[in-house]
Amino acid sequence: MIVNEIFYSLQGEGKLAGAPSAFVRLAGCPLRCRWCDTKYAWPAEAGRDYGIEELREKLLQWPTRYIVITGGEPMAAEGLGTLTHALAEARMHITIETSGIRYIGDLSCDLMSISPKLSNSTPTEPGPAAEHERQRLNLPAMQQLIDRYDYQIKFVVDSPADLDEIAGCLQQLKNIDPYKIFLMPQAQTRAELIEKSQMLAPYCLQAGFALSPRLQVMLWESERGK
Ligand code: SF4
Repeated sequence: MIVNEIFYSLQGEGKLAGAPSAFVRLAGCPLRCRWCDTKYAWPAEAGRDYGIEELREKLLQWPTRYIVITGGEPMAAEGLGTLTHALAEARMHITIETSGIRYIGDLSCDLMSISPKLSNSTPTEPGPAAEHERQRLNLPAMQQLIDRYDYQIKFVVDSPADLDEIAGCLQQLKNIDPYKIFLMPQAQTRAELIEKSQMLAPYCLQAGFALSPRLQVMLWESERGK
């Protein structure tokens, strides 16, 4: 499979924030989100081909049992199932970071970490924007992921205007556990992160959702490989 990068860092977001984790970033994503911080991983060929054994050996070299499979969009990558089964055999805890646009039912996955893309992520150019709008919210696929796997849902919030859209999205999903919902500030810098976290805190308290940190922004301002 085509791997964009492999690195060891702290999980930055969601319920495992702070956990030392081995990350594998798979190449390829069709969405082209406006504020994406991993644009270098968009092309399906943006990386080098790894065999499953080689990849497994690389990911097991660090002192952690947490593996994070991210992208790009990992659910669009060939061989994802085989990779997850190989890591599960090694008794690793597997998180898959996905936008939720595609359902695959036979993965070994301990935490399906779904980040649905709101309209705040739509690219500005008309062509990519139309494609993004067509694909960004696949509620039937998301529902299947929620029903099949342990999950968390992380919404990236850019402004208070996004909150109604989040409520509308959640209304269309069934059996959602509110304790598994996180709101995360859209931020590229520490200053933005603090400002938007302060904006979100009252809403989280009111709705009963968790405010997710973004340690990769707080510590390293999204420096590559961290
Ligand atoms: S889904 Fe994720 S990787 Fe793909 S463009 Fe959006 S933010 Fe970037």
